[in-house]
Amino acid sequence: MEYPGNLFVVAAPSGAGKSSLVKALLELDAKLMVSISHTTRAPRGQEQHGREYWFIGEPEFRQMVSTGAFFEWAEVHGNLYGTSRKAIEERMAAGEDVVLEIDWQGALQIKKLFPNAVLIFILPPSYEELRQRLRRRGEDQPDVIEQRMVNAREEVAQARHFDYIVVNALFETALFDLKAIVHAQRLKYAAQRRSKPSVFGALDLT
Ligand code: 5GP
Repeated sequence: MEYPGNLFVVAAPSGAGKSSLVKALLELDAKLMVSISHTTRAPRGQEQHGREYWFIGEPEFRQMVSTGAFFEWAEVHGNLYGTSRKAIEERMAAGEDVVLEIDWQGALQIKKLFPNAVLIFILPPSYEELRQRLRRRGEDQPDVIEQRMVNAREEVAQARHFDYIVVNALFETALFDLKAIVHAQRLKYAAQRRSKPSVFGALDLT
């Protein structure tokens, strides 16, 4: 499938800072929109239906899978998550840029469907720093943190399949790197031809 808009997929182990980085990126870049996934997990804290996720029951999720409503879906830490077609198809067809904040399994599925998708993996500077961040976050019990650390090693091993790596040692530097990736993608020939048809026309470029 070919769409005029750019598709960015961001994955990371839990605690690497993915959500904060994507949130900051979206605040800086009005042309980027994030796709809201569907999930069977319960809302946490201040999360709202339709803002962080569409929170639905498993029967409804399975129904959506069977009707082909998802571009990709995966089980992550015991819950189901999916990227609905409707959420991104219209925006991308209209030439807008979409960010998917999903796990590595979903990212690899998306790359098969959209070979032009830009896959970005956010790494922590070390496993020790990741453990410290999970502790500081204070959301999880020690046994859950240790389980996340086990998962993190498996997730980090998938980084080799991604197009870009951002090491989140310093938030501002990582944000700068993310912005650079988005900017470089928009400067590609095909993207420039789409966004500057008058220049390309004037120069007889096809
Ligand atoms: P959380 O429950 O902490 O919000 O998310 C758990 C993991 O599921 C994160 O890695 C998150 O990026 C991922 N995730 C969120 N939405 C989707 C989705 O639509 N598809 C896939 N494959 N993973 C998702």
